[in-house]
Amino acid sequence: MAVRNIVQRGDLILQKKSRPVEKFDERLGQLIDDMKETLIQADGAGLAAVQVGVLRRVCIVDSLCKENTSAREFLELVNPEIVKEDGQQENEEGCLSVPEERGITRRPAAVQLKAQDRHGNWHIYSGKDIKARAFCHEIDHMNGILFTDRVIRSVHPRNGKQTGRNTQRRR
Ligand code: ZN
Repeated sequence: MAVRNIVQRGDLILQKKSRPVEKFDERLGQLIDDMKETLIQADGAGLAAVQVGVLRRVCIVDSLCKENTSAREFLELVNPEIVKEDGQQENEEGCLSVPEERGITRRPAAVQLKAQDRHGNWHIYSGKDIKARAFCHEIDHMNGILFTDRVIRSVHPRNGKQTGRNTQRRR
């Protein structure tokens, strides 16, 4: 396994649409393993392949989504598609590709998605609250969308204080 560099905002690859995974081979497994190592090192909750420069529809999401724990388990989502969504939430989001910014976004309160694993088998996953946000955030990455495109209120990254809508938005 190897830690890969996380692409930062400003790199145009983050605006590109990722292609579906068609080959479930060793290279895909290697990519997913590297993404896990990269995410652990960066201490994030989720990572899409485009964030390590690979335009394929692959992401990993922390399945526990708990802070202050060293226990990490990751869902491996290949070609994920949201099949059901419910309700609405407005909560704070951030991104390893936009480390200097956080903001409040509007997301479904709960989502159900189908996704393949590294071997090509389909599974159904459900998530609510922070996990629903993570699922939507990573699928957005696969469509070239950053959370900053969805921010309804900015949040100061240091003290968590909300500021005016446009004060910290940069594209
Ligand atoms: Zn992100």
